[in-house]
Amino acid sequence: MNKRCNSCKGSGEEICDKCAGRGYTYKAGGETEDCDACGGLGVTDCPMCNGIGNAQFHYTPISN
Ligand SMILES: [Zn+2]
Ligand SMILES: [Zn+2]
Repeated sequence: MNKRCNSCKGSGEEICDKCAGRGYTYKAGGETEDCDACGGLGVTDCPMCNGIGNAQFHYTPISN
């Protein structure tokens, strides 16, 4: 049973809070540059589920 991650609502991604999802940031002179936090994507892997989108990874599989 998949347990959807509450943090990212199952998308596995979160809006990058450094660039607010734009993918770039403004430099002092007004130029833009790729956001170094998300690599220009505007989103980052959800830290709660490592980008998986569900919380299943929390459960250790039973080996046997
Ligand atoms: Zn998540
Ligand atoms: Zn970013």
